[in-house]
Amino acid sequence: MPTLWIGTSWKMTKTLVEGRAWAEGLRDHLVAEHGGAAPSGVQPFVIPSFTATTTVAGILGEDSPVLLGVQNAHWEDAGAWTGEVSVPQAKDAGAQVVEIGHSERREHFGETVETTRLKVAAALRHGLTPLLCIGESAEVKDAGGSSAFILEQAAGALEGLSPQELSRVVIAYEPIWAIGEKGRPATVEELIEPFAALGAEYSGRVAGLLYGGSVNLDNAAALLGIEHVTGLFVGRTAWRLEGYLELLRIA
Ligand code: PGA
Repeated sequence: MPTLWIGTSWKMTKTLVEGRAWAEGLRDHLVAEHGGAAPSGVQPFVIPSFTATTTVAGILGEDSPVLLGVQNAHWEDAGAWTGEVSVPQAKDAGAQVVEIGHSERREHFGETVETTRLKVAAALRHGLTPLLCIGESAEVKDAGGSSAFILEQAAGALEGLSPQELSRVVIAYEPIWAIGEKGRPATVEELIEPFAALGAEYSGRVAGLLYGGSVNLDNAAALLGIEHVTGLFVGRTAWRLEGYLELLRIA
C-alpha cells in the first residue's frame, strides 16, 4: 500500500490564534491517539499562510510526523523581489513542502508552466518537497481535453528532472471546476480517466498523486478508492480541525 497523503492548505484564512488552536489540536490528537506518530500509512501535511509558518512549526515540533508547507515560494534564492518569499526563507521558517501552481495563483497571480518549472527546481535544489498543483477549467473539460491539458501542465513543470528528483515530487490534480465555493465535487466517474492518464505517466515515479477540489467527509473514502489516487488535498472541509481529523480517520 502506498502512503496516503492527507493535507490542507489554509489559503488566506485564520488568525494566529485560530491557527495555533488548529495546530495544537492536531498535535494533541496525534499524541493521544497515535503516540505522537502519524496514523499508520498516512502522511499528514498542513500548509498555513506565511504568517503562521513559524508558529505552526513551533507547535508541531521538530520531530513531528506532520509535514509543514508554504503556499508559494519564489524561484530565486534572494534578491529584489518585493512581496515574495524564497525557498531558503521558507525552509528557514520550518517548511518542508512548497505548494506550486495552485489554480488560484495561476489565475490571479500570473503563475505559468514556466514559473512552476522554475519553482519545482528551486524546491528540489533546497531539499524541499514540491507539491505541484495541476487542473483544467470547465471549458477544457467540456471540450474533452482534460487529460491532455493536465499532462501538458505536469510535463512542463517537471521537464528535465532526473528519476530521483521526480520521485520527490507530489502532484495534486485539482480540476478548477471542482474547487471552492463556486465549484462542485468531481464524481468518481469523472476522475477515472484523468487519474488513469496521470497514473500511466507518473504512478510509482512520484511521491504521491493527490486529488483536490471540494473533498468532504461524504466523498473522501470513494475518492481515495480511485485507482492511482494516493491522497487528498483539502481546503474548506479541513479548515475545521474536526473535519481534518475525520479525514485522517477515513484514510
Ligand atoms: P476546497 O479547496 O477543498 O475548498 O474546494 C481545494 C483546493 O483548492 O485545494
